[in-house]
Amino acid sequence: MFDQPILSYKLVCNGQDPLTNAFVTTRKPHTCTICEETIGAGERVRRETRRSADGEQIETRHVCRHCCEAIARHTVGDWGPISARYELAKKARAS
Ligand SMILES: [Zn+2]
Repeated sequence: MFDQPILSYKLVCNGQDPLTNAFVTTRKPHTCTICEETIGAGERVRRETRRSADGEQIETRHVCRHCCEAIARHTVGDWGPISARYELAKKARAS
């Protein structure tokens, strides 16, 4: 898995660059910002921090391993997997 294309994928499109954007190993559970599934501790994930729209807070987003793989597919022109990951979150919210 190549890291750079995955880090380049925009999680938020507000025209601002993230403050930090890197792969990290989680120390505690998080929720994936794309599929909204739980990410366990000790998993290698993409972590991004950015200033909130009003500039008041620092927002942190994590992207799980499965969504990172889907992003990697997306970078080579295959939109199916990443769409499916967003669909998971939509379904979870609808139920
Ligand atoms: Zn995910």
